[in-house]
Amino acid sequence: MLFEISEKIVRVLKAVTEPRIATKDVVKEPAHKSPVFRGRHQIRYDICTGCEACAKICPVDAIIMEPLPIKRPKALPEVNLAVCIFCGLCEDVCPTKPEKAIKLSGGDIEMIVDNPSHESLSNWWVKPEVPEEWIEQKKREEEEKARKKAEMMAKKKAEAEAKKRAEAAAKKAEENKSSGETGDNGGEK
Ligand code: SF4
Ligand code: SF4
Repeated sequence: MLFEISEKIVRVLKAVTEPRIATKDVVKEPAHKSPVFRGRHQIRYDICTGCEACAKICPVDAIIMEPLPIKRPKALPEVNLAVCIFCGLCEDVCPTKPEKAIKLSGGDIEMIVDNPSHESLSNWWVKPEVPEEWIEQKKREEEEKARKKAEMMAKKKAEAEAKKRAEAAAKKAEENKSSGETGDNGGEK
């Protein structure tokens, strides 16, 4: 009996001194995150292909594709967390390997605000920060690629024309040879 009472006292004391997760101040102290925690999106501009699969599959249209002045990726996703339902479909469908270009693994959601305002709501957009130098580098790479492709096409065209001319010359020579032989035979008769 005495043991049961002391056990109950210990339990009550424990409950009072060790607040559970539900009683924590979630603003100041983020709750425990499970290994499959889905938080703020992380977008890898450097591996995204701009395929738009994430935006197309999003069930609540929380993703828009922001255009870039380059061909690949021609646009990057931006996520409106005020609309997002954190289903993770965008991450599931993203085709890049081995890393996903969009992941819901950005740590705390940080969406709890004391006084929601227009400014705080605008912070709910996840936008990849693309360095200007990266865009310039991509532009140079694309120009170089286009130049090499044009060179290769010109070379192939020149080779095809040369082959055509050689074939025409060979055919003409063959025709001249046959007509010469016919002429010779006629002379023998
Ligand atoms: S997690 Fe779901 S709702 Fe949120 S952006 Fe991705 S697909 Fe849309
Ligand atoms: S994040 Fe993934 S799914 Fe979305 S556009 Fe980029 S490559 Fe495509």
